[in-house]
Amino acid sequence: SAIAYARELRKTYGDGDTAVHALAGVDVEFRRGELTAIMGPSGSGKSTLMHCMAGLDRPTSGTVVVDGDEVSRMNERRLTKLRRTRLGFVFQAFNLVPTLTALENITLPLDIARRPVDRAHLDAVVAAVGLQDRLHHKPSELSGGQQQRVACARALVSRPAVVFADEPTGNLDSASSAEVLGFLRRSVTELGQTIVMVTHDPTAASYAHRVLFLADGLLVGELLDPTPASVL
Ligand code: ADP
Ligand code: ADP
Repeated sequence: SAIAYARELRKTYGDGDTAVHALAGVDVEFRRGELTAIMGPSGSGKSTLMHCMAGLDRPTSGTVVVDGDEVSRMNERRLTKLRRTRLGFVFQAFNLVPTLTALENITLPLDIARRPVDRAHLDAVVAAVGLQDRLHHKPSELSGGQQQRVACARALVSRPAVVFADEPTGNLDSASSAEVLGFLRRSVTELGQTIVMVTHDPTAASYAHRVLFLADGLLVGELLDPTPASVL
């Protein structure tokens, strides 16, 4: 079943002759417990799609529904609450708080939302991400791959309806990328998390259950159970 979907999603920047149709009518579904990769050339609308799905950007028209609620109709206050309490985010640049330890970074979303730590879930996330012996290190004492795994654990700790990952391996070497992608995949198959990942790396996309291809603001293809060769 779809935990998030968009219908007839359009996003136009500017108007008249200079208008850019970043999304030109996209229908898409993201299913519960799936890792979906979004691929496509630069400028094809990947970031715009992710931002509209996650309530970071407002569509020009169309409907976005996440976890049963219509994101496209929410006011700013409800959007902020949605992002804080029901979505998780992973960025290319890690975006950890440098003064906090790994563990403090991981539990930060719960602290901000004043929600109690579910110790069993926290332990499962920490174990799955392989950070047991790094929990008291600051980000500067961690490798890039370890920092991104902390960021992934932080995105997952509050059991969000959907985790959105924007080029999560864009700053990583291939060994660190494999660790991060392995964790994202396991968090889907073992913890039941739903993840939407934008990437232009075919190896990264091959970890997904499903790859969606965008071109010129339109969904132009879909591939199930991809391999690195089939994505290319
Ligand atoms: P991708 O993530 O696939 O590289 P984007 O979603 O970033 O694509 O961009 C899609 C199109 O929308 C591009 O033509 C881009 O230049 C344009 N675009 C994106 N953001 C803006 C903006 N804030 N203002 C004007 N044009 C934008
Ligand atoms: P270090 O970073 O110094 O190697 P550890 O990562 O082994 O330290 O963690 C030591 C302490 O961190 C533990 O005694 C415990 O209080 C806390 N801790 C370890 N694992 C978890 C966990 N999964 N959830 C919450 N706290 C934990």
